[in-house]
Formats: sequence, C-alpha cells, structure tokens
Amino acid sequence: MNETLKQKALGDHYRVAIIGAGVGGLYLVKRLTDLGIDVVLLEGEGGVGGTWYRNRYPGARFDSESYTYGFSFSKSLLNEWHWQERYSPQPENLRYFNYVVEKFQLAEHIHFNCWLTHAHWQEAERHWWLALGDGRQLKADFVISAIGLLSVPTKPRYEGVDRFKGDSFHTFEWPDEPVSLEGKRVGVVGTGATGIQVIGEIAPIVDSLHVFQRRPNWAAPLNNSAISGAEMDDIRAKYEEIFEFCSKTPGGFAHEPDRRGFWNFTREERVAFWDELYDQPGFSIWLANFREIFTDERANAEFSDYIAGRIRARVRDPKIAEKLIPKDHGFGWQRVPMETNYYEAFNLPHVHLVDLNETPITKVTESGIEISEGLIALDLIVYATGFDAVTGAFNRIDIRGVGGRSLREKWAEGPETYLGTLVSGFPNFMMVAGPQSASSLSNFPRAIEIGGNWIADLISHVMGTGCSRVEATEEAEAEWTAHVAEMYEALLMRKGKGWFTGYNSNLDGHTGERIHYFVYNGGAPKFHETLRSVASENYRGLTMS
Ligand code: NAP
Repeated sequence: MNETLKQKALGDHYRVAIIGAGVGGLYLVKRLTDLGIDVVLLEGEGGVGGTWYRNRYPGARFDSESYTYGFSFSKSLLNEWHWQERYSPQPENLRYFNYVVEKFQLAEHIHFNCWLTHAHWQEAERHWWLALGDGRQLKADFVISAIGLLSVPTKPRYEGVDRFKGDSFHTFEWPDEPVSLEGKRVGVVGTGATGIQVIGEIAPIVDSLHVFQRRPNWAAPLNNSAISGAEMDDIRAKYEEIFEFCSKTPGGFAHEPDRRGFWNFTREERVAFWDELYDQPGFSIWLANFREIFTDERANAEFSDYIAGRIRARVRDPKIAEKLIPKDHGFGWQRVPMETNYYEAFNLPHVHLVDLNETPITKVTESGIEISEGLIALDLIVYATGFDAVTGAFNRIDIRGVGGRSLREKWAEGPETYLGTLVSGFPNFMMVAGPQSASSLSNFPRAIEIGGNWIADLISHVMGTGCSRVEATEEAEAEWTAHVAEMYEALLMRKGKGWFTGYNSNLDGHTGERIHYFVYNGGAPKFHETLRSVASENYRGLTMS
C-alpha cells in the first residue's frame, strides 16, 4: 500500500501542518479536511502508522482490546473492519491504518520522508516557518504536533555497543525485512513492556536466549484469543455501547476500577476476585482491580504479594522466580506489561536470566556481551531499552516561539502546557496526545479523537472569528501544570521509576530522584470535561487576536 501512495509536490504555505502520521496525525487530517481546511501532514518515515509503523519486533501487539483501539468516527469503517484477534498484532494494525488512509483518501494530504528539523514562529507574519531535514521549507498558519510520546528510542551507553559484529538493534528499529531467529544465539537487554513481548514470542524459536535484566517488572497475562466472525458481528452491534463505556473509564479502556472497597472484603474474598481477574483478558488485572491498588500502599503490597505467588507458580526454578519478582516497587507503580508465555519462557533449558545486579555488563564486544563473569557469545542483540519519552520527540526539533524562545529550553525542567494541548509563548501550536494530556495515559485513540476534535474545533473557531493567532496565557499554563503535578500526589505511581515519571537511565541527568510530570492522572472523563468547559467558556485561558 505504501508504495501506491503517490506523492504530489510539497506546497509552500498551508493553513495547517500536522507533524506525524500516526494515530493522532491521521485523525486530525481527516477532521480538518472534513472541515474544508487546507492541511498537509508531514511524516518522517516512508509510511503511515506511527508507533505501528516502527515497532515491528516479534510479539508487538495492542494491549488495549482491538475493538476499542480502532477509530470510532465512521460507522462504515467499523462495519468493514474485522479485528482478527482481541489484541491485534503489529502487521494487522499497520494494515488497518493503511486501510483508513485508503478509505478516506487521505494520501493526497500526506508527504513522506519529511523530517521536521525546525519550526519557528514568525510573529509579524503570524505563521510558522518550517524546515525539513532535506532542506525543503514551507509555512503554515497552524502547526499540530502528533509526534508521539515514545518515538525516540534510547540504547544503553555500554562501552562497545557499536562494535558488535552480529545484528543488533533497538526494538523500535527492528528491520522491515524478516530477521531469521531460528538457530540464533540471542540476547535481549531490557524487560519493560517491549522486552517482555519479545521474550515470550522468540523464546521457543531461538537456539539460546539470554535475558539481561536490571530491574524486573510486574507483568500479567494478556490472555489473547482470536475473534470469530460471529463475535465480530456481536462487537459491531455493540460498538456504540463499547465506546460509551470507554468514555467513562479513567483510561478510556474497556475496564473500570472496582469501587466496592478493598477493605470491605476478607483476604480470601480478595484472592478469589484476583483469581478471576488473572484469567481475564488484557488490563483487567490492573485496571478492573480495586481502586486502592493505585493509592493505598498496604493494599498494593498485598496485591503485589498475590502476583508474586503467581510468578512463583509459573517459574519452575525458585531462584529464577525470585529474580523475576520486583522488590523495589509495587504492582502498577510503573506501566504493567502484558505477557504471553513470558514466565514460562524461563522454564526452557536454553533461556537464561542474567541478573545485571549480580553480574553487570562490562562491555559489548565484537562477538557478544561481556558481563562480570565472562563473555556471552551472541549472534543477535535486541535492545528493548525504552525511549526518551514524551519530551524527547519535541527536543530533537528546533521549535521556537515568540521572540525566538526555544521550547527545549522552556521545558528543560519538564513540560509546561495548558491542557496538554497548547504552550504559552508558542502561538498557533497545538499537540494531540501531548505531554500532560489524558491521552498520554490512556487508550490512545479514544483520547485522540476527543483531543483532536477539540483542536479542530478551536482552529475552526479561530478562523471563523477572523482571528489569526491563539495562545495559552502564562497563568492558565501555570495553573494546569501545577494541577498535573498535584494529581501525581494521590497515586503510588509517583514512586515508580519509569517513563510515566520521566525516568530513563540512558539519558543524562536522570537519577530517578526527580519526577517529570509527563502525564495527566485525573482520568480521561475529567480531562474531557475540562476541555469541554474551557471551550464553552469562550476558550478560557486562551488569547485570540
Ligand atoms: P521501558 O518500559 O522503558 O523499559 C526499558 C527496559 O530496559 C527496562 O527494563 C529497563 O530497566 C531496561 N534498560 C534500559 N536501559 C538499560 C541499560 N542501560 N541496561 C540494562 N537495562 C536497561 O521501555 P519499553 O519496554 O519499550 O516500554 C515503553 C512503553 O511503551 C511501555 O511502558 C508502554 O507504554 C509502551 N508499550 C506499549 C505496548 C503495547 O501497547 N502493546 C507494547 C510495548 C511497549 P530499568 O527498569 O532498570 O530501567
């Protein structure tokens, strides 16, 4: 399909430029073209899909229910598409986004291989000057960033990382062409949601697998299954209900927390409830659990202990099981990876857990990874080592607002936004699924549709009133940023060392001591209600001229 997307020449001035053809960019280009607004979508890669274009590693799949992840705006799209699995794999997801492009004839607005390097606000002309990596330039009255929260991969800074003679890549950079795994000695560094997907998938195929683990994560079974034609018919009949349900849950997922009260049950009753949840699909075990799991340290400890028991029951070697059980954080303090046969992988004789706390990596050599005990010879090294999350994708673009002020500098101590959508000092610049929005901690497309509609309505409103400039006030931005920080206080997540709190050991200055308030924790319904109320109060907190 990508080859068939014909490119037309890039114009030199558009009303709106959208950056990034992932879920958010595709939604916005559809909304704005429906409104008759002249728009261009600039994509750095050679195809659409964003995260689903890049993350081609084995095991990559949704952990939101597929039928809650698709776009909801078109009845015919909902009727036409058959999700084959409850948690759809990457190749299918990519097909879906290409299908959307084709169905709604979005290709004519999309330009590929357009890496934005500079975006400078021109106050006198009231437009943005944009420059691409290949030297092309253009102007846009409005810029919408849809550049993703996890789109800048980070590799470890071990000595010799580039010296390895075999294949090695970050999961985000997994090659397009098939990578043969049969008969290979493979090393996977990192045990976050990505590493855990890769390990479960490739363990039965490879000759040997060394898992280099620094800190274990709490993971739980995905319980994936196929969706038959009859089931899909049933889902189609219930789409309205499903989306309505998702719109009321904190994360926009098909799961809502149990509000009956953790302490109103006996320990035995809680365990019986957890036994049920553990066998249910997807995030139920996390997001349909007692609310107290997120806020109450004692409740969280008891539940973590329950999951530890599950891990011990699944991993035959008790010493390995203990190493796979997190000791430094409770369940859900960090993003919970969903797994398929992850723990069982460690029962295979050719799968080895390397605990980096006991035997640290000393360097990467031409032939493998050297740990304190000696060299582990490998044919392939997979780095599942995470991302320069949230602000990383902004930082690599030279974005300058009023008076040439750099966004990178403004956000040096962490992002400051109004509603995760606008930034004071950066007029006519909007972010879909931006830092400090609900989208960053939810079922992305659900939040993207609501946030995207709000952005489209705002642009249309600004244009309709004859204005050419909209900007968040400093006060509104300061208030929102303080509110976002405050929302962390209630949640145990504030104590986690993961991307939710802006931690990445592969980046300078990341000690884990300081929280970056990257995500809005007040829940999607509250966030959406705030968006609605801001619009209904004549866009409170924004100045237009
Ligand atoms: P991640 O959660 O940041 O995990 C990175 C892993 O690499 C951690 O285990 C980390 O260990 C380890 N690591 C990093 N640097 C290392 C080093 N120098 N040496 C040894 N180990 C190192 O990244 P991720 O797994 O790619 O997941 C990121 C996010 O992507 C997830 O939280 C999720 O939001 C999203 N995701 C979604 C899906 C899905 O929807 N289906 C699937 C995959 C990922 P430490 O913990 O010790 O730092």
